[in-house]
Amino acid sequence: MASAALAFAFRGDKLLVSGAADEPTDTPPQLPPFALLTAVGLTGVPHYLGALNGVDCIAVNLPEASTEPVGWRYAGLRSLFFRLPEPLMAIATRAFQVVDWDRTHRFCGRCGTATHDKAGERAKECPACGLIAYPRISPAMMVLITRGRELLLARANRFPTAMYSALAGFVEPGETIEDCIHREVREEVGIDVTDLQYFASQSWAFPHSLMIAYTARYARGELRPDPTEIADVRWFGVDALPALPTTVSISRRLIDATVARLRAQSPAGPVAPSC
Ligand SMILES: [Zn+2]
Repeated sequence: MASAALAFAFRGDKLLVSGAADEPTDTPPQLPPFALLTAVGLTGVPHYLGALNGVDCIAVNLPEASTEPVGWRYAGLRSLFFRLPEPLMAIATRAFQVVDWDRTHRFCGRCGTATHDKAGERAKECPACGLIAYPRISPAMMVLITRGRELLLARANRFPTAMYSALAGFVEPGETIEDCIHREVREEVGIDVTDLQYFASQSWAFPHSLMIAYTARYARGELRPDPTEIADVRWFGVDALPALPTTVSISRRLIDATVARLRAQSPAGPVAPSC
């Protein structure tokens, strides 16, 4: 292992980065060299992630009791968006998912025996019954529904502010993404949609989602929001949008791209001749 290797070291769900907690933060945070952990006596389960421009990147699962070295702090991953430069941020979210999987698969889910790391692939193997467990990834759909030049945006009960976003939900066993979209839209807001179009996907490490985003067109039905999930849902004209998610999330990219597409279209209906 090269001494220049970078450590993506997590205590709980927080990553070790440079800087003091109360320091004015104009300087982008840095990741510690792996050797620093060793030098200050921080030890944890390492997982090799790969090399970035020839520099090895290693995820480290630190014990909860780990202290911070002087000049370093533990920072929540979400607070590092826009601060930790790409591609380090992407590697940090990957590291978090690997560390979280390491912590939650220490014992076999079938027989309870302690697992070990399987040679040659990222997997945990049970030495007693042979069960193999891979890192868990949970697919979820996101869909932005349009009706003419309007977007259907909802405020979920779990949203912290008055923010509105596209609908989203986890895929259930046996479902395709398309099945999930039709079911979730019916369950959450009571309408049917058509013309599903794939947009893009995003890994979302909170804790292990793969968000797969679509657009769809309204087909039929009256809005009947499920009050256990949805605080409010409305059709918004492209020129009268509410508070939206930050640009970190795929939801914002999905909304921005759809708004740009709708604005580029001429308004629906026949255009009156000018006179
Ligand atoms: Zn077992």
